Amino acid sequence: MKCTVTSLLAAAVASLFLAGAPVQAMDRSKIPDQDKWDLSDVYPTDAAWESAKKDLEKRLPEVDRYKGKLGSSPKELLGCMNLLFDLKKEFSRLATYASQKSDLDVRDAHAMEMRQSLDPLGAEFGAKTAWVDPEILEIPSAKIEAFLKEEPGLAIYKPVIEDIVRLKPHTLSPAEEKIMADASLVSGTPDSIFSVFSDADNPRATVTLSDGETVKLDASAYTKYRAVPNRWDRESVFQAFFGNLDQFKGTYGALLNGEVDKDLFFAKARNYKDCLSSALDGPNIPTVVYTNLLRNVHKNLPTLWRYLKLRQRIMGLDQLRYSDLYAPIIKEVDEKYTADQAKDLVLKAVAPLGQDYVDVLKNGYAHRWVDFYPSPGKHSGAYSNGAAYDVHPFMLLNFNGSYEDVSTLAHESGHTMHSYYSNKTQPFATSDYTIFVAEVASTCNENLLMDYMLKHTDSDAMKLFLLGSYVDNIRQTLFRQAQFAEFELKIHQMVESGQPLTGENLNKAYAGIINEYYGVPQGITEINPVCYSEWAFIPHFYYNFYVYSYATSITASTAISQMIMEGKPDAVKDYRKFLTLGSSLPPVEELKVAGVDMTTDVPFDITMKAMNRAMDQMEAILNKMDAQKKAAPAGK
Ligand SMILES: [Zn+2]
Repeated sequence: MKCTVTSLLAAAVASLFLAGAPVQAMDRSKIPDQDKWDLSDVYPTDAAWESAKKDLEKRLPEVDRYKGKLGSSPKELLGCMNLLFDLKKEFSRLATYASQKSDLDVRDAHAMEMRQSLDPLGAEFGAKTAWVDPEILEIPSAKIEAFLKEEPGLAIYKPVIEDIVRLKPHTLSPAEEKIMADASLVSGTPDSIFSVFSDADNPRATVTLSDGETVKLDASAYTKYRAVPNRWDRESVFQAFFGNLDQFKGTYGALLNGEVDKDLFFAKARNYKDCLSSALDGPNIPTVVYTNLLRNVHKNLPTLWRYLKLRQRIMGLDQLRYSDLYAPIIKEVDEKYTADQAKDLVLKAVAPLGQDYVDVLKNGYAHRWVDFYPSPGKHSGAYSNGAAYDVHPFMLLNFNGSYEDVSTLAHESGHTMHSYYSNKTQPFATSDYTIFVAEVASTCNENLLMDYMLKHTDSDAMKLFLLGSYVDNIRQTLFRQAQFAEFELKIHQMVESGQPLTGENLNKAYAGIINEYYGVPQGITEINPVCYSEWAFIPHFYYNFYVYSYATSITASTAISQMIMEGKPDAVKDYRKFLTLGSSLPPVEELKVAGVDMTTDVPFDITMKAMNRAMDQMEAILNKMDAQKKAAPAGK
């Protein structure tokens, strides 16, 4: 997240990147210290944390003394920025300690209390500093230029100030801004009703599986049971789950209509030409990045179809159905890894990034940056947190020894090293990287790990597993998210052209997209029309143009890792430079430094080549396995 001067809590939360699933817990006291976090790097004791918090509370009112003076001299502006970011930095450090302590055992009431005690402090900070951005906006541009020339100390805040000024044409008068702020009290209503209805009030369908088990299909049961091996069960799960959504499509449609109306209201009020421009202007992403993604996906649908045909072949089906897309096609190889082996594999895999990268990571593993194992009450999944700027990043894992867990260590290590280099290079104000670039370093490391594993295994089963997970990930992260992004753009355009959204026309719009993506007219996939209500299941349609960034992240990181693996001159040097940028440049410019231009087709083309190459390798292995089967004597 770029640090705007007021969003203190957002900054503390944004450095967390979550992944993974719950696993078997063990007694924390039996876990060796070296595999547990050392939070004393942040504060030596809880008492030290308490006293740092009191100091911060005491310093907050110092902000008042700058009110009304920011335009008076460069010294005043600098003094205010220094103070604000210093307070923010300390707050991030306090939040890191409290949240990570609480994550080790969510049942720990004292840790929870520490964490919650920061909420009012964060809110007070927000309220006390709400005047800063508007006051900066009131300083004429020429004067800001002059200030920057006159006071060299302001240079480190230039990206922050420029970002506030950039949005000036879409910032309203103080009275209008007050109305906009008040409007946000009601604008969240469609999303909250969607959540309440989806998570609680929707009665949900039940389904009886072939083994006699009866299951109530809420969202998490659907996610679990859509992947069962029995095909008849999967189809029943799809029919029941989507049948329920279809039954309530009027309600879901009215909610989505309310949400898109809200986006249109804010876009118009802030003088944007449409909802897409409005949504992408905040994070400073050109709309061409979005439209290129959709154009490229259409151009490359035959690559998706090739994947679907390969899936059909591995599953041994006459006809692939939409309900066959989640069944695991390749069994995870039953290989187990210790934490030491996992660290060793990741360190070897990232070796192409340079010895000092490896050394820093190795040092981090040795000095307890990682909390490895699951234990009772520990936060599930995995994340990296780089918000303690002056300390070092931390990683939380729930390591259980599967290949997936090794890959998660590589992923979180990618986030960690991105934070490490950005924190080390950038001033605090521009140290925290934005969401658009956040998943690049993590997935780049996953790719390097896969490449290393493929080169160091003789097992065809293992290779097939690695390649299968790789292409399925591209299917889900690139094609499926683009399918959602296309729907999201389409429904906003419908509302912009005065067409209200109803359950009926949303089903129709969704059907048009999935029939095309999954090659229904070409006979590639069969889709039961009940699945046309799938849109009603997706909470991301309430996030205002968010899903596309999953798809663009994967093309950016695939392009970067391919250039590194192919030994392209300067690829490593450019990527390493990118890791140091924090949020000092607009996100698309930062990726250009890493050698990928997201306003062109190149990253997408490289990703498609990589996907096709992986499928070539899978087919070669499958052909070899088929030939071996044929050659084996019958009856054995
Ligand atoms: Zn991540």
